[in-house]
Amino acid sequence: MLMRVGGAGAGTDENKWIPVINPATGDEIDRVPAGTKDDLERAVTAADTAFSSWKRKTQRERGMVLFRAAGIVRERHKDLARLLTTEQGKPLKESIDEIRGFANILEFYAGISAAQKGELVRLGATGDAIITREPMGICAAIIPWNMPALIMGWKIGPALLAGNTLLLKPASTAPLTALRLTEILDEAGLPPGTLNTVTGVGETIGEAMAGHPAIKKLSFTGSCATGQRIRELAAGSLKELTLELGGSDPMIVMPDADIDKAVDGAIRGRFYNAGQTCTAVKRLFVHESIAAEFSRRLKQKTESLKLGNGLDAGTDMGPLNSAIQRERIEKLIDRVRDTGQGTVLTGGTRPGGAEYSQGFFYRPTVVSDVEKTSGLMTGEVFGPVLPVMPVPDLDAAITEANRTAYGLGASIWTSSLPAVKRAFDEIHAGIIWVNRHLTIPPEIPFGGMNESGFGRENGLHALDNYSRTKTLLLGW
Ligand code: NAD
Repeated sequence: MLMRVGGAGAGTDENKWIPVINPATGDEIDRVPAGTKDDLERAVTAADTAFSSWKRKTQRERGMVLFRAAGIVRERHKDLARLLTTEQGKPLKESIDEIRGFANILEFYAGISAAQKGELVRLGATGDAIITREPMGICAAIIPWNMPALIMGWKIGPALLAGNTLLLKPASTAPLTALRLTEILDEAGLPPGTLNTVTGVGETIGEAMAGHPAIKKLSFTGSCATGQRIRELAAGSLKELTLELGGSDPMIVMPDADIDKAVDGAIRGRFYNAGQTCTAVKRLFVHESIAAEFSRRLKQKTESLKLGNGLDAGTDMGPLNSAIQRERIEKLIDRVRDTGQGTVLTGGTRPGGAEYSQGFFYRPTVVSDVEKTSGLMTGEVFGPVLPVMPVPDLDAAITEANRTAYGLGASIWTSSLPAVKRAFDEIHAGIIWVNRHLTIPPEIPFGGMNESGFGRENGLHALDNYSRTKTLLLGW
């Protein structure tokens, strides 16, 4: 598939390509251009040319384009979901959720497009000030492979509605759905050059975006290490940044919780998308009075998950997205075994069988008795591994929940309002869920604290992140 620049498909002068592999079969399903700095320059020129007319449209007109695009996405959601599963690996039902999620985000921003507000500040004898917001200019978005459609929506929805033009760089292992969605936005009436999707490796295209003086704002979702590199590169041009980085979300289960719901919540929270979700349940703390029974049910449910090709009906969990992701998980579990830093209750290996031999499959894994110093507890585990730990009380649970450099999300499972209030007040995270985990509707701001990054996606907050105030002071 070609890149998408200036409203049309675009190759690259160097004729270099990046293969896109189906993680369930190991087959090459397509290839995309390995874009160069010259390709990025062409995209910057296209975005620059488009900016003056796109910003002059009313917010309502811009919202109408998003609304039409959402309609086309809904019509074609089955094809888009198949494409997403084929390049990313997740089960089809999760891809359908994600594609609909993309449409939801566009509809949310289309829905608020007519409710544009400004402010009037009366300054007495000095006069009156009218405060409006204006777009930043050319913006850029760099997205990962784990939720390429949803995260694309989080970035392009508010950026385009606010009147910016945009360069998007998808991850090299899952660029196809983002390219298809860009085509749909063009088809829905986005003027050529308003959204340009440039493929290529992070060290070339991503770094060139981060350092480019014409790009006024960059929103990045990915790992902490890349986020730090982008921050260094962006400093030279004083670019505004949103950094949505890693997470190690805790889930706390108190004895007054509905245990079955909490077990289901932990399974979905950890094994959705084969554990490759920034806000997945990455550390599970269960009150010691229910820990044994909870672990028993958790193990049983984990073992009932059907691992397979995401296109097959009945698959609960697909492969990991790439061989590298699987190696990272294997190394972690090998280390846990070698050092005795935990007990593997179930999983911990590749599945046997011919149907799994070519893909990047790994069995859903639960580990108990995990040492606090284990990499499972100190780092971010981006795969299907759930460490479960007993805690004596809520104090200990909150202390453990905060024993991380991250601060993306957290959940507490309880029927006690005082416990909820304490978790909300004391856990360092951008969102605290009660009796659920993972849900992020477009209406609410999303983003982390500490090493999970800064800036907010979604809701009205993201619109503010893609625009800045401009004030007219009238001396009468
Ligand atoms: P990654 O940082 O390796 O890659 C993310 C994107 O950055 C890709 O498009 C990649 O090509 C690009 N990139 C790589 N090196 C670059 C460089 N030097 N300069 C500029 N761009 C570069 O991350 P990943 O492994 O693809 O994604 C997984 C990570 O993303 C996890 O840590 C996960 O928690 C995080 N994530 C965070 C959120 C959130 O909203 N906070 C959401 C999803 C994923």
